[in-house]
Amino acid sequence: MAEPVYQRILLKLSGEALLGEADYGIDPLVLRRLAAEIHALVDRGVEVALVIGGGNIFRGAGLAEAGMDRVGADHMGMLATVMNGLAMQDALERENVFTRVMSAIKINQVCEDYIRRRAVRHLEKGRVVIFAAGTGNPFFTTDSAASLRAVEIGADLMLKATKVDGVYSADPMTDPSALRYDQLTYDQVLDDRLSVMDATAIVMCRDQNMPIVVFDINEPGVLARIVEGERVGTRVER
Ligand code: UDP
Repeated sequence: MAEPVYQRILLKLSGEALLGEADYGIDPLVLRRLAAEIHALVDRGVEVALVIGGGNIFRGAGLAEAGMDRVGADHMGMLATVMNGLAMQDALERENVFTRVMSAIKINQVCEDYIRRRAVRHLEKGRVVIFAAGTGNPFFTTDSAASLRAVEIGADLMLKATKVDGVYSADPMTDPSALRYDQLTYDQVLDDRLSVMDATAIVMCRDQNMPIVVFDINEPGVLARIVEGERVGTRVER
């Protein structure tokens, strides 16, 4: 096995990644598989931080469309990410991986508050840190939270998990002529409105020079291959 070339990574999982075959909630088998893959990275000395979305439970924009006040709806979305974070913590701890959930909104009978220095200390001690509740602010997404936290903790790479093996010129699920990119710049993503992450998240990565790899989380062993430096999926950088 090749030595990892990245010391500290931030993995962004959408809530959807936890759904499995269902259309709501969390599939324990999916969680177990993800936990095992993350465990393998930790065993190889990689420091792993996670940001998990909440779209498998609630999305603020969807609730607002149905008539709810947007700010309250976003609070529900953020709380959904806390639930996903706790589920992932449980799955990791079953794998004997020490894990801390840190929330951007105070909910400290359930998990720790997010304090950057403490988060970095956990990582240095080999604990997986799950950043929950997004940025703590409505009108943002967990993609933006992921780029913010990746920059704050000094991650070497941000891994954006998706259901397809990289970034395409169009949706490959519906357009068979869609082309896959191996490499993109942040400005190409922004100018061509490619669906990598929302623009706020991309701009943060661009301005702080945080490289992103977009990849298919359903490929077994993919996380190990990425940290070994293999070219997987689409890389976004300067
Ligand atoms: N959210 C928010 N502020 C944040 C991050 C998330 O208000 O900083 C809310 C928002 O309502 C969002 C929901 O939490 O729809 C779940 O996050 P997201 O949609 O990013 O999850 P994903 O699509 O990754 O599952």
